Amino acid sequence: SQSLFAAVEMAPRDPILGLNEQFNADPNPAKVNLGVGVYYDENGKLPLLKCVATAEKQLVEAAKPRGYLPIDGIAVYDKAVQGLVFGAAHEAVTSGRIATVQGLGGTGGLKIGADFLKRLNPAAKVLISDPSWENHRALFTNAGFAVEAYPYYDAAARGIDFVAMLAALQAAPAGTIVVLHACCHNPTGYDLSPVQWLQVIEVLKSRQLVPFLDMAYQGFGQGIAEDGAVIERFLEAGIDFFVSTSFSKSFSLYGERVGALSVVCESKDEAARVLSQLKIVIRTNYSNPPTFGAQVVATVLTTPALRALWEEELAGMRVRIKAMRELLVTKLKAAGVKEDLSFITRQQGMFSYSGLNAAQMQRLRGEFGIYGVDSGRICVAALNEHNIGAVAKAMAAVV
Ligand code: PLP
Repeated sequence: SQSLFAAVEMAPRDPILGLNEQFNADPNPAKVNLGVGVYYDENGKLPLLKCVATAEKQLVEAAKPRGYLPIDGIAVYDKAVQGLVFGAAHEAVTSGRIATVQGLGGTGGLKIGADFLKRLNPAAKVLISDPSWENHRALFTNAGFAVEAYPYYDAAARGIDFVAMLAALQAAPAGTIVVLHACCHNPTGYDLSPVQWLQVIEVLKSRQLVPFLDMAYQGFGQGIAEDGAVIERFLEAGIDFFVSTSFSKSFSLYGERVGALSVVCESKDEAARVLSQLKIVIRTNYSNPPTFGAQVVATVLTTPALRALWEEELAGMRVRIKAMRELLVTKLKAAGVKEDLSFITRQQGMFSYSGLNAAQMQRLRGEFGIYGVDSGRICVAALNEHNIGAVAKAMAAVV
């Protein structure tokens, strides 16, 4: 008899995971993995933040039984997320017109939002940046949307093709969902300026588009408040919008899957109705969220001493990445690269679009054991004093 699964095709491998496998199999002792999407410390290790370890210890010492959480998660956590993202004293928060739910990482927040939007407006189209975090397209496609891209990266200008981006938004039909990276654009590292954000917000508002802000790196650009300022601009514009939050990077809590979705509505009554729908999405997907990671984050965010420690540790990560950008430029110049490399220090967040092409990235891998993505994306947060010299020499050799 024919097996039920006889016709199942092998799905393509995740390109980044494939790169990791290739890296792990490489016997070269000098190999460096710049393909990853995580922050490593100055010794190339994934950090356990002190604020996290302390909160964790407190929670374990006061160990509690594990009942189910409410469908929308821990109330104190959701409130802390609102405070962080929108400002605790902001009218939008105090008036109760934001619906916030705990999610499984930032991806979970995006998925809850996508499923809710699909019920709300099944015919809407989704626009993501060209290029974008590779899961944006897959996630919204799987939620049932037709996904297209708006122009973003301008390779020749080493920046953003803002004119083309704005034109694409202007041409989008009302109701189109526009996914925007709130800060630290993944993969390019290029963010809109404050003035450009205002122009984008104006078009989103006048064209009645639906902004969906993906905030996976708050605190990695200029600072927690500075990176959050864009949210303030959206609130000022008086439009309804979505924000997904991820604490994977900012708390180095990747595996705990801590995130959230917030939906900014016009009134408390509207937010209550939206929340009831978000809960149905959650209930029918995974019923309710896990306890531990969100408890850690809530403890840190609501305990002043731990909060201060977190801000310091997050600043440490941000400053180290910036230092690596500058050192990379210095070392590339020293290795003989003549080109203007200032774009590397203009980029923000964990990644740099290095400008190298696929053939050059493959040479980096094959000849030097330096692993980056074929698009030219390298993880600056994986550079350190020990490996940066070899990386710069190799890059200089292939350009
Ligand atoms: N959004 C962007 C832009 C990201 O870069 C990432 C992680 O790489 C995510 C969302 C997903 O975050 P999480 O691991 O919290 O689901």
